[in-house]
Order: sequence, then structure tokens, then C-alpha cells
Amino acid sequence: MTMTTLTRGSHGGLRVSPRWPARYVHVDADALKALQHIQTQLPEELTLILTRGYEARATHLGFARTQFRKFGIGVFRRLYPNRQHEITDIFGSNGHDVDGTHVDISFCLNGRRIRMLPLGVFTPPSWQQRRVERHASSLNCILTLLKRYGFQIHRNATERLQIHCDFRVNQRFRDTIL
Ligand SMILES: [Zn+2]
Repeated sequence: MTMTTLTRGSHGGLRVSPRWPARYVHVDADALKALQHIQTQLPEELTLILTRGYEARATHLGFARTQFRKFGIGVFRRLYPNRQHEITDIFGSNGHDVDGTHVDISFCLNGRRIRMLPLGVFTPPSWQQRRVERHASSLNCILTLLKRYGFQIHRNATERLQIHCDFRVNQRFRDTIL
């Protein structure tokens, strides 16, 4: 498995914008190829943004994420007492500390970044629902292509809007991209 390190900017047509406080996105080379290919298949008004990939645990960044997570869980518990069962899905590292096939994706519509989660994982479900309805066609288009080329989208509704997905080389990827 080869890992590629990307800085903020455009890489082979794919936009990269590391999520604060990260300055790089480390991503699996095949996953990157797939994302670049998917970008070419999207309608002109849609731009993918890669925001997160591999983050080693034993780094400043990994430490920062762990601290945010601890704090976040406390806040989440208080805000959403009925959503305790989602904590593992939302605050788990979801593979970001394993390798570069686990990525988070965001997108731009006509050059404007669409914030599906304006308050991050604390965005109330009713707001999330409204945004999903408003951007249904963009989202469907992106999710369909991601799935087609080997990305499995997270099962949790909030993580889905962060577009957390796990990449696994599939036949279509082999046939069309390699
Ligand atoms: Zn993620």
C-alpha cells in the first residue's frame, strides 16, 4: 500500500483542504486515483474536496484529535442524551489511524463550499435533514460515484454527511482506472 502526502490545493483535479489543525492529508495512492477519476465523472458544478485521510496516533495531530474527541463526547452526551448509541460511530477514529484508505470528503457546488454539518458532529439532526433535502441531487451524484469505484460510505447518518468512507479496490476500479 502506497501513501501519498498532499498539501492544500489542487492535485490532479482533486481539491485538498486538510481539516484543522492538520496541514497535510495522507491518502492511499489507489484511493487518490479513484477520487481523481470520480472528479472527472462529476458534473462541472461539483468539486470534491478531500479533507482527511490517515492520521498517525502518536503525533501532535493524533494527540489533538484524541483530546477533541474526549471533549466532544462530553458535549455530545449532554446535547443529545438520546443518541448515546451513536458515540462510537461518530467519535471513533473510524480507521483514520489505521491507513490512508479511510477518508472524509466535502464538496463545492458552483465554487461554493457546502457545509453539510455547519456545527460539525453537533449539528442538530433537523438541520442535517434540511441540508440533505436541499442538496439531495449533489449528494446522490457524489455518493453513487463513490460507491461505484469502491468507497463504502459510513453507516451513521452524521458520518455520512462528513462523507466518511472506506476505500477498497473493486473490479470497476481495476477495469477503468488501473
Ligand atoms: Zn472520517
